[in-house]
Amino acid sequence: MIRLTDIKLPLDHPEEAIEQAILAKLLISQEQLISFNVFKRGYDARRKSNIILIYTLDVETSNEAQLLLDFASDNKIKQTPDMRYKFVAKAGEISERPVVIGLGPCGLFAGLVLAQMGFKPIILERGKEVRERTKDTFGFWRKKILNTESNVQFGEGGAGTFSDGKLYSQVKDPKHYSRKVLNEFVEAGAPEEILYVSKPHIGTFKLVTMVEQMRAKIIELGGEVRFEQRVDEIHFDDVDEKNSEQKREVTGLTLASGEHIKTKHIALAIGHSARDTFKILHEHGVFIKAKPFSVGFRIEHEQSVIDDARFGTNAGNPILGAADYKLVHHCKNGRSVYSFCMCPGGTVVAAASEENRLVTNGMSQYSRHERNANSAIVVGIEPKDFTEDGDTSNVLAGIDFQRQLEEKAFKLGGATYDAPVQLVGDFIAGRKTGEHGSVIPSYKPGVTYCDLSEALPDYAVAAIREALPAFERKIKGFSMDEATLTAVETRTSSPIQITRDKESLQSINVKGLFPAGEGAGYAGGILSAGIDGIKIAEAMALSMCSES
Ligand code: FAD
Repeated sequence: MIRLTDIKLPLDHPEEAIEQAILAKLLISQEQLISFNVFKRGYDARRKSNIILIYTLDVETSNEAQLLLDFASDNKIKQTPDMRYKFVAKAGEISERPVVIGLGPCGLFAGLVLAQMGFKPIILERGKEVRERTKDTFGFWRKKILNTESNVQFGEGGAGTFSDGKLYSQVKDPKHYSRKVLNEFVEAGAPEEILYVSKPHIGTFKLVTMVEQMRAKIIELGGEVRFEQRVDEIHFDDVDEKNSEQKREVTGLTLASGEHIKTKHIALAIGHSARDTFKILHEHGVFIKAKPFSVGFRIEHEQSVIDDARFGTNAGNPILGAADYKLVHHCKNGRSVYSFCMCPGGTVVAAASEENRLVTNGMSQYSRHERNANSAIVVGIEPKDFTEDGDTSNVLAGIDFQRQLEEKAFKLGGATYDAPVQLVGDFIAGRKTGEHGSVIPSYKPGVTYCDLSEALPDYAVAAIREALPAFERKIKGFSMDEATLTAVETRTSSPIQITRDKESLQSINVKGLFPAGEGAGYAGGILSAGIDGIKIAEAMALSMCSES
């Protein structure tokens, strides 16, 4: 097949225009064209009166070899790469089964690929299976009853289950692992379009069913999936090899129930909210370092404001769907403010996992039909910001910093899990908000109007005050007085990295421990966490094969 990239057509082009574009591009006749399919479809909406669709097409012709020679110097006409996934190993006799801790997207793919290679993994998840977890999460949103082990962060499917289900990422992917992730999702019930639209998303309800399907597949392949099994301790032995940087190796783990499981290979896919587990790992000498992350607020506008600003008269076109945005502003005080995890037509969600602490995030359904658009507007922070005196010696200080902000937000909201909210106009003017305007905040269980200048450090408040009017220049209406800010966003990514060796993907000081996914600092979203899960499964498989 030949891959054609950057084929541009008008938004309202007739179906046959694609074929015409192929013939014109390759200078071939209709008889020479055997078939084609759309590999990717994106759009360029920089000129909203002239929105362009941009296609990547895979084309089968009767004269492929000749065409590839003729167009050898055209980098938009190349042979279609082989993107099929190839397993790196096949299990033989298994003496001790590998263990995957955490059943978020990273653990799900690590577990699935290990199972597909025949390694029969044991997957341990502290939270509940997804249907039970959904009840607990909805219970929190409706009745303010927080289950600290079963919530938006913890449970089958991981942090992204109650999300917009955006499935794109900017990670380098030379081995096409993302294709494997998307293909598995489609097999588990995701809409086929995720394979070809440039910014696919699946929404929360579809994710719930898909996660269940994938669990069933792992079990069918001989894997074991256990819920409400929090890992509280990992055991190590000294390593014999003198020259090894890794002074210790994994021998097993202990669950909260007291049960011991023997294993030499652990994928640690625990997400960014497993603060208790981070502490245990640190106390046991697993190498951890602090890393930058971002903090801020969720902003909400009516979706129609964003649609009008981005698409103009084309707003509502089904190919475009609800409009999104991506914004960044570099501030005078040296900070950068950017939009993150934008959820078109969605809701702001209560994402707490600890008592008396409040944290926000965003989600939507596949249809993206809710009234409001939301995104996190966040400020980048460094480890030196985690403490007042800039001391960076405590590698877990980022967690303390997050907790302080989450406690402040809880108190500002009235100490009932209602979120503190301020109108954008009042925030910029430094005025307390008394009541809502035209944008009704979507956060459940409820909101309290207040002054959010106390919710973040002064430099972050100053940076966001400067950035909002700057964003207005890119999206008309963005800094409108009645848009709302809901506090607080603290879990944009992990505050730590559990550093691993680049080749073996094992912890740099513990053999057999494979830090993985977002919590370890190696992913930042559903797709990249899934990709990392595949990489980890491969590294574990190769390690197990080399030892047998
Ligand atoms: P997680 O998904 O966090 O999974 C870790 C799992 O480990 C959890 O299920 C947890 O219960 C379990 N665990 C933790 N500690 C232990 C232990 N000691 N023992 C046993 N189990 C343990 N990303 C996107 O790409 N698109 C989106 O639209 C999107 N929306 C989001 C919306 C919300 C509300 C949230 C919270 C996140 C969203 N994200 C989104 C981010 C995305 O969900 C994460 O990047 C992704 O889930 C990280 O995957 P992970 O597997 O590394 O970790």
